[in-house]
Amino acid sequence: MLGRVLGAVLAVTAGLGAAHTASAAELRPDQVRFREIYKELVETNTSLSVGSCTEAAAKMGARLKAAGFTDSQLTYFSVPEHPKDGGLVAILPGTSKTAKPMLLLGHLDVVEAKRADWTRDPFVLIEENGYFYGRGTSDMKVIDATWVDMLIRFKEEKFQNKRTIKLALTCGEETLEAFNGADWLAKNKRDLIDAEFALNEGGGGRADANGKLQAQGVQVGEKVVQQFRMETTNAGGHSSVPIRDNAIYQLAQGLLKVRDYEFPLQMNDTTRAFFSKVGVGRNDTMGQAMLAIARDPNDKAAEAELNKDRGFHSMLRTTCVATLLDGGHAENALPQRAGANINCRMFPGNTMEQTKAALEAAINDPGVKLTPLQPIRAKPTPPPLDPKIIGPMEKVAAKYFPGVPLVPTMSTGASDAIYLSPVGIPTYGVPGFWSGPEGSGAHGLNEHMSAASVYTGRDYLTDLVKAYAGG
Ligand SMILES: [Zn+2]
Repeated sequence: MLGRVLGAVLAVTAGLGAAHTASAAELRPDQVRFREIYKELVETNTSLSVGSCTEAAAKMGARLKAAGFTDSQLTYFSVPEHPKDGGLVAILPGTSKTAKPMLLLGHLDVVEAKRADWTRDPFVLIEENGYFYGRGTSDMKVIDATWVDMLIRFKEEKFQNKRTIKLALTCGEETLEAFNGADWLAKNKRDLIDAEFALNEGGGGRADANGKLQAQGVQVGEKVVQQFRMETTNAGGHSSVPIRDNAIYQLAQGLLKVRDYEFPLQMNDTTRAFFSKVGVGRNDTMGQAMLAIARDPNDKAAEAELNKDRGFHSMLRTTCVATLLDGGHAENALPQRAGANINCRMFPGNTMEQTKAALEAAINDPGVKLTPLQPIRAKPTPPPLDPKIIGPMEKVAAKYFPGVPLVPTMSTGASDAIYLSPVGIPTYGVPGFWSGPEGSGAHGLNEHMSAASVYTGRDYLTDLVKAYAGG
């Protein structure tokens, strides 16, 4: 998950250009080793069907051990039912007794990729015309490789980090079927990953068609998925003698009410900062509306303008939409049952109960039953727009991305941050890497990232973690 929000919505006046692309021959020795880690991760298949996160975690652990991490600083974890969905927590102790630890989070698993559909082998790291291709090159093995490489460099440099730096490499982010390591660590090994804050995927930048970086995003909070089964039942009967009372019609009426129901506008510090920062950079009606809504969330004209953009519309409220449909049991019978799946994306801070009550009030028919489906998420607390976190991000960005605005974003999707925030570890999606207007192919075909993004993003994040950890 990278740059999704920025990708969909930005039209900021351009800042300075991206760094030039280094060819493999011009790489610094430290970049050569980083590239090897990146390659090893991409070429270790970690998809649910045939891959193994456990194997990828073991390879990263071996590299850390070779760099001087002791066995007690490396904790491998898995559960017997999911032997291939294991992970690793590595700890680089800090020198300070008072500074709280920080956590680097990365999921090792990737979305399935079919060789026949891709132009190149998805499980071989291929560098071509200034781009790296392969499953996970963007989501999110580039960040995993950066975290591992960083810890090795800190060891080698004998970096005197004040804060303890923890790294958690986990599995199961991309699918509900696998064992989710971030969820498991939060519930079972809270002490091991205890940290004042965590850095994760979900942020990132956006370049224009000429490779010029337009903005960098830091993800501060995300919407939460909650699904409902909507169902109607009826006595049914022979279809030759129909009556108006019909499970399918009743469900259809309810679905139209869901379509027409608009959840009330909500804003938080992140979305307010997003709209005011992006609005300043635009010279159009939408930009005016962004500034207006940031000043006054009751500005109905501004809201109406923003609602024309489906991304902004979703950022401003909880949304619920019908995504699956079933009903009836025979072509010549009146239906005894009809059902639909309602997929909701709750604004941070909203609960399943509030969302269900709002839908039931809108449907206004006790015959239409709504049942929440698992998983029912704990109410997340959005991380604060903390200057101690955002300040260093801006300061280091001024060195690597001069003139490029750093914009707080709230993702309309979800990442493993949803497991850490309920246990009191505010989690931020880091800026640094970026994609072009075509996107990164994450979850889709021919996933890629420019070499300029890979090497500059890595340098940016290394300096950023140094700034947080103190030396
Ligand atoms: Zn991801």
